[in-house]
Amino acid sequence: MKYIYDLTLDELKDVLKPLNAPQFRAGQIFTALHQGIPVPDITNIPKDLRVWLNENFNCNLPEIVTVQTSKDGTKKYLLAYKQNLNSERENSENLQTDLIECVLLNQNYGNTLCVSSQVGCRMGCRFCASGKNGLVRNLTAGEILAEVLLINRLNSTSTTRGVTNIVLMGSGEPLDNYDNVMQFLRLVTAPTGINISARNISLSTSGLVPQIKKFADENTQVNLCISLHAPNDELRQQIMPIAKRYTIRELVDAAKYYFEKTHRRVIFEYSLMMKDGKTFNCAVGQARELANLVRGFPAHINLINLNPLHFDANAVLTPPSREIAMTFMDAVIKNGVSCTMRKNKGDDIDGACGQLRLRHLNQLN
Ligand code: SAH
Ligand code: SF4
Repeated sequence: MKYIYDLTLDELKDVLKPLNAPQFRAGQIFTALHQGIPVPDITNIPKDLRVWLNENFNCNLPEIVTVQTSKDGTKKYLLAYKQNLNSERENSENLQTDLIECVLLNQNYGNTLCVSSQVGCRMGCRFCASGKNGLVRNLTAGEILAEVLLINRLNSTSTTRGVTNIVLMGSGEPLDNYDNVMQFLRLVTAPTGINISARNISLSTSGLVPQIKKFADENTQVNLCISLHAPNDELRQQIMPIAKRYTIRELVDAAKYYFEKTHRRVIFEYSLMMKDGKTFNCAVGQARELANLVRGFPAHINLINLNPLHFDANAVLTPPSREIAMTFMDAVIKNGVSCTMRKNKGDDIDGACGQLRLRHLNQLN
């Protein structure tokens, strides 16, 4: 059954045509869906239309499994999409539950929601919980959108919006689910819908070079973030399998192309890590190497301390001390590149991407 949140306004108009419902109904439904109102509660349309939608589409928003609230106000939601794998058979109990997570961060400029684009991830980065069990499936455009609609409704007041900014930084590699993510971007920026400006949206990628170029050609105003995490290919290959497919040079060239096309400054994400108690990617010489890579075009480096995996008892990767981190940041800046340190928000909860889901899966097993 098709998911109702996958539909654009025009597609909704098309499905309503055979019903001979007035044209404006499509707009009413689209707007109400984007306000996060469940279909049975869209009371400005006739009841039989609500019933018809429910019978012909999957209209379920994701279910909330748990919410963790951090001392700094960060809220982490574990959400479940349930689908009946034997939908042909009545009363079938064969439900597949797909868990994803999203995080709402309060910032002085608004509320940023970090959404997931896939259930799991197949990129297999060594330090990341999302990739630990591989990819389960891609989320559809509507499923990514429904994360935003649900959390926005839960956190909105009569005067403020629950979600003002979006980062595609939850579990999943967004550019590995390219078409659905592009459709999500069209839906979430639609003027008659939740209407979040592309400039308030950031997409983070582990560095799929051809898709970055394709994304640049889409001519959106979305901010591009690239997970670099190492200043040279040899080091990067040790923690990110994707680095064996594309070199850092190719990646930085793709980032420059993105800037030329969109005029949006590109952000490089760099998680500081120690390996076996020694600096892995955060020595002063490596700060210089990093700065040399991206100097000369409008780029910014976002540092974050590694959030160690709670489940990895044999973890060899750990975060550096504050002193090492600050010295690294100063060295990048001294070498002529704009650089800031991101605070690890929600440190006291399962902060980093994929950790809440992984904890839950481990408890189930
Ligand atoms: N798949 C995309 C987006 C999701 S991850 C990507 O990799 O870019 C969002 C960011 O968190 C990425 O920069 C990722 O490398 C980083 N990350 C993942 N696990 C982390 C951890 N344990 N500690 C610090 N950063 C982490
Ligand atoms: Fe996937 Fe990103 Fe995690 Fe790598 S860091 S495994 S690409 S979610």
